Amino acid sequence: MALDDPQGGLDWSQQKLAKARAAQDVETQFWMLLGSARMATTLEDAQRSAGYLAEARRLLATWPGAGPMHRLWLGTTQALADVRLVPTVELMARVLSLRREAVPLGMPDLLCEVDSVELWALVDVGNNDDAWAAAEAIERCAAETGYLDLEVSAITQLGSLSGRVSGKVPAVGQAEDYFQRALARLDKLPARFQRSLIEFELGGALNAARLPGSARDHFLRALALSQDLGDKAGVAAGQIRAGEMMLLMGDAESALQMARSALPLMEAQGNQLRLTAAHMLVLKAMTALKRPDVAAALEPARRADAANVPPARRAELAQAMAEALALLGQHARAYAELQRANQLRGQSLEGQRDTQMLRLQARYETARRDVETTELRRQTETAQLALQAREAGQRALWTALGAACLLLVGAVVMVVRGWRHRRQLAELALRDELTGLPNRRAIRAAAQAQIEQAQRWQGPCVLALIDIDHFKQVNDVHGHATGDAVLKALAKASAHVLRSHDRFGRLGGEEFLLVIPGSALADMPAVFDRLRSAFSAVEVLGLPVPHGVRFSMGAVDVGTEGESLDQLLDRADHALYEAKAAGRDQLVVRGPVSAPA
Ligand code: GH3
Ligand code: MG
Ligand code: MG
Repeated sequence: MALDDPQGGLDWSQQKLAKARAAQDVETQFWMLLGSARMATTLEDAQRSAGYLAEARRLLATWPGAGPMHRLWLGTTQALADVRLVPTVELMARVLSLRREAVPLGMPDLLCEVDSVELWALVDVGNNDDAWAAAEAIERCAAETGYLDLEVSAITQLGSLSGRVSGKVPAVGQAEDYFQRALARLDKLPARFQRSLIEFELGGALNAARLPGSARDHFLRALALSQDLGDKAGVAAGQIRAGEMMLLMGDAESALQMARSALPLMEAQGNQLRLTAAHMLVLKAMTALKRPDVAAALEPARRADAANVPPARRAELAQAMAEALALLGQHARAYAELQRANQLRGQSLEGQRDTQMLRLQARYETARRDVETTELRRQTETAQLALQAREAGQRALWTALGAACLLLVGAVVMVVRGWRHRRQLAELALRDELTGLPNRRAIRAAAQAQIEQAQRWQGPCVLALIDIDHFKQVNDVHGHATGDAVLKALAKASAHVLRSHDRFGRLGGEEFLLVIPGSALADMPAVFDRLRSAFSAVEVLGLPVPHGVRFSMGAVDVGTEGESLDQLLDRADHALYEAKAAGRDQLVVRGPVSAPA
């Protein structure tokens, strides 16, 4: 749910929490509070997140079942919530101590989560090179521990960092590759939230490549997705970033509108960071428009400048205030703001240096730990070898035999796995993504096989082309999504009607091919009627019940003339054309070429 709908995830955790409270199940309460906190953090709702964490802490204090594992997860979730809210140096120190405690307990999933705290902290402070290394590490550990959301967000971050890492030239193509990879990992999973993030980050990459127009379009798309999900921080972020692009493109008026709609949203949420960004955009847009009432926007902007906002962002805000003041002719105050901006930039650099120090220390510790573990393992192995040497002889023979068996079993498992994997890949290549039916390639291959068999054994076989009537109108009137739903409905109807050896596939667009071995043209009216009534009984989202969409069918007999698949399809197409010409919603059949019509 973190990938698809964090708000839904939050609601779900809250329901579970209420049940656990009623059942006085402290452990479940604890985990549900952590889950709620994480979702609230994702939604940038710092207040709610803090509330859940405080409650989890109270719970742990009095619960005898609390162990180091619970405390570590609480600490990690807290650290994640605190990214951007406490100075990065402090966060990095916490990351370091969480890691120190978690390593001896052997908690790879927690460690991966700790890594992601570090990633966000590094991204936030602008330490892109270290952030890149952290994201790569997370992609690996998340794949190993099966944390899809961490994995996908790490890949997404690699995409948005790829233009900012030193030694790399900003190239949209490269960033896009990462975003494509993230999308491929999501595959068909419902992941609306993550997809909106990917749109958002893609916007960022396009902006870095100096393509503000395309960047704006992606920010607007992220905005629409966030609106759909009711994700307020996402909406505000989309508005602010789209507004920034509009400003870059010289449309300060629209930029101002965007910023102004983001402001109240973020005030209601108490979202300090986005508030600062929104105020900054208001100031910049008004300054660009040379509006004298920018004076009234200065005071609220100053109030939004909170100490817990990262200094780099505060510096930008101070700069925007300086420019607004200069416009108003208040040069002394403008100069003071500029000085403050410079000072804040200095602080930000200092913060980066401290962060780097801590990361170096962490690396040193990891390296030392690895050396220690290796030494320990070496000692154990030596002891074991000595023991084995003493008990050699027959025992060794048995061991060797056992090992050989294991290898054999392993090999079989690998072969089966590889075979399964290949089969899955092959299946994917043969399925139509939308309807799940065999795709063009697959259904043509099935038809080809049936034709060959029918011609060899002189058995009956029918090919029927199906085309939905006035489908373009469905799209035009009800939208493409409804059109897609109609296509799925036909696929669903076919599953009810056809026998196990019949084959039904999508040739493309709204055209389908039906292969019915063992049937003659005389059977086709019944087949047509069955499919027709099954189709009209399926409900289609976006259309009234019954939906009233119909199809036409042109069927041909395979016969014994040795006609090729393409020749047969050509004849079926003519029959279909006749059915359309005769008013649609009907079947036209054609006998073999040589037979009298
Ligand atoms: P007719 O009754 O003569 O078949 O009219 P029609 O409107 O169904 O035929 P036409 O070939 O004019 O239009 C087919 C439409 O199908 C046009 C195209 O945009 C739409 N289409 C093709 N593939 C898809 C798809 O995957 N999804 C949706 N929703 N529409 C599609
Ligand atoms: Mg068509
Ligand atoms: Mg059609």
